[in-house]
Amino acid sequence: MLSQKTINLSTNFLSGGGEMGEFVRTMDWSETSVGDPGGWPQSLRTAASICLNSKFPLLIWWGNDLVKIYNDAYRNLIATKHPKAMGAMGADVWPEVLPNVLPLLQKILKDGEASGSEDQLLIIERNGRQEVCDFTFSYSAIRDEAGDVGGIFCAVNETTKKVNAEGKVSTLLNNLFMQAPVAICILRGENYIVEVANKMMQEFWGRTQIEVLNKPVFEALPEVKEQVFKELLDTVYKKGERFVAEELPIDLLRCGQMEQAFVKFIYEPIFEEDGTISGIMAVANEITEQVVARKKAEESEFRYHNMIHTSTSMILILKGKDLIVRVANEAMLQTLGKGKDIVGKPLLEILPEIIEQGLGELLHQVYETGQPSYGYELPVYIIRNGVRELSYYTFVYQAQRGLNGEVVGVAVIANEVTPQATLNLKLKESEEYFRQIADLMPAKITNANADGSVTYFNKNWRDFTGMNFEDFRNFGYHNILHPDEVEEFQKRFNSAAEKRIDLEMEMRFLNKEGDYVWHLNRASPVIDENGNIKKWIGVTSDIQKIKDDERQKENFLSMASHELRTPVTTIKAYGQIAEMMLQKNGDKETLEIVSRMGGQIDKLNTLIGELLDFTKIQEGKLIYKEGFFDFNEFVKGVVEDMRHTTITHKISYIKGDNAHIFGDKEKLSQVVNNLISNGIKYSPGSDKILVTTQLQEDGVTLSIQDYGIGIAKEAQEKVFEQFYRVTGDSQSTYPGMGIGLYICTEIIKRQGGKIWVEESNDTGSTFCLWLPFDHREHND
Ligand code: ADP
Repeated sequence: MLSQKTINLSTNFLSGGGEMGEFVRTMDWSETSVGDPGGWPQSLRTAASICLNSKFPLLIWWGNDLVKIYNDAYRNLIATKHPKAMGAMGADVWPEVLPNVLPLLQKILKDGEASGSEDQLLIIERNGRQEVCDFTFSYSAIRDEAGDVGGIFCAVNETTKKVNAEGKVSTLLNNLFMQAPVAICILRGENYIVEVANKMMQEFWGRTQIEVLNKPVFEALPEVKEQVFKELLDTVYKKGERFVAEELPIDLLRCGQMEQAFVKFIYEPIFEEDGTISGIMAVANEITEQVVARKKAEESEFRYHNMIHTSTSMILILKGKDLIVRVANEAMLQTLGKGKDIVGKPLLEILPEIIEQGLGELLHQVYETGQPSYGYELPVYIIRNGVRELSYYTFVYQAQRGLNGEVVGVAVIANEVTPQATLNLKLKESEEYFRQIADLMPAKITNANADGSVTYFNKNWRDFTGMNFEDFRNFGYHNILHPDEVEEFQKRFNSAAEKRIDLEMEMRFLNKEGDYVWHLNRASPVIDENGNIKKWIGVTSDIQKIKDDERQKENFLSMASHELRTPVTTIKAYGQIAEMMLQKNGDKETLEIVSRMGGQIDKLNTLIGELLDFTKIQEGKLIYKEGFFDFNEFVKGVVEDMRHTTITHKISYIKGDNAHIFGDKEKLSQVVNNLISNGIKYSPGSDKILVTTQLQEDGVTLSIQDYGIGIAKEAQEKVFEQFYRVTGDSQSTYPGMGIGLYICTEIIKRQGGKIWVEESNDTGSTFCLWLPFDHREHND
């Protein structure tokens, strides 16, 4: 009890002192170099009492070990260093600080002279990390009873916050400067040394901070030296007056490339206190993008205006719903007969005459709906100098839109097309006229495209077929062709198209009563400038009556030739008897006459034979007696027979390889005979005929060449038609009926062969025929 009381009494100086007082009282001091508080000297006791009870941060460094005793306020400063710091040696608690403070403390311990430091920056380990802190210290010696310095009384005040506040202001300014959204730099002295240049300025120059800082600006940016800037800076520097440039081009080397930039800037002189100029602050704003965009806009505006004003088309730009003339180009003014003063006025006031022509309404409609409107060769009259003048225009009314897509006006682009429109009108009129004529004509008229598809047919066709345009157009007319003639028609059409010649064919068309009626169908190609067929014009005439007449004629011929045959044969027989008798009597003169008569009877017989064959063919009654024979021998025989009949022509025969064919030898000899006779007949000015046979892979060919009058190209196919003769004029020179080749064709066709004109011009013709070895094989 006594000892406790002693302690209590002896530690009474530690009473109070808040949390740290409590801590000091209860901690075990015996382990520390100051030992138990009961043994503390009076000076320490007094100091400890003052320290613990003070509201200011106070600390005692005691003895040479600098043992620490501190109060609540100090504890707050050192944060987590408590509780380790209490009673500990300074070196253990503040190893990071001691090197700075120790000399000071030791000096006080030694001399006893009070000391201190303001805003001392110390890096202390606090809250688990290193912190830069500022402290204001006051150190005063604590003297013991002997008057020696036993320790140091330290009043501490952390000023970190205050110092930082000032620092922050300058950092803030620095940050503001560096990150300012305009380029700023300070150029010092007459050489304009770059003292500072913010990020924007560095970017503007295309240089890094190191490349420019502390260098004369024109050394850092040599490419700018020769430009106007040096002169401007010099003036500012000399006159001390600010210079403002709204827009200046500057050539800068950026990323290794010269670039033109545009800049708006201020040069502001920097004055010293004594009024002298020590530098210039440059504040710049790069406006390259805006300038380029503006220039582009200006350029396109210029082009737009240029285009409008130089255009040969008439252009009018109207604004708003009142259609106020905003732009009218030269072409438009000329056409309207107006001056530039129409700009700014409502169009419909300037041209009231267009209202009654419906154009005002049309313009309003375009403005209201935003939909364009087109006019093609439209007649419009305009009053020029009081005279009403009619012209034709092709135009477009186009809505003009604002930035948000709203209609703000109407653009009119027009071309005067009066000559063309008048021509088209005339064309239309003449087409109408043509159609009227075509409808009045007795013939049936068609227009067709190059491929034969019909684009027009006249009234006669409509009346005849009962078909409407839709049914007939294109290839609808194929439905009224006689099935037997479709193939032939197609063949002839293709051939005529290929040769670009007229097509002519007798063919039947179905009428609305369901009967086929014979027509002569003629189509003539219209050729374009490149030699291609543009279209066909077809004229088709009804020849049913002619056909009926022909049929009658054929019947008559058939009957007449039959009737003639017998008496002529009898006359021939009598003639031969008379010849024999006269020969016997030696009456040469009469014999000559009778034998000439015999020659004429032969010709008559041939003619009757042809007529008979013709009628038989028509009736399908020609009888064929077929068998195999040597083709070359056969031709040789015919040629030899023919040689006896002519004294004017030499008939040569060039024989091909041997060939046996199956056919009617007699009918074929009639064909060869006819071809050679024609060759002789149509070559009065020549004296030779060349007959050639040739063995082919699939049959034989025979050609008969003469050197006579030839056949025009367009007649070469027609000569095989019945009664067709090339020239009527030469009838007397070249008598004939025009059925020989027709009979030949029928015979050759029956034998499965072909006959054609190989070549014919004014130096002669070559007729050819081809026969298969055995036509039955093909027929099977
Ligand atoms: P024609 O009895 O008129 O000779 P064809 O049927 O034999 O009758 O011949 C028809 C037409 O073909 C003749 O009228 C003639 O114009 C022409 N023709 C036939 N062969 C020749 C030829 N070798 N040279 C020129 N024209 C010919």
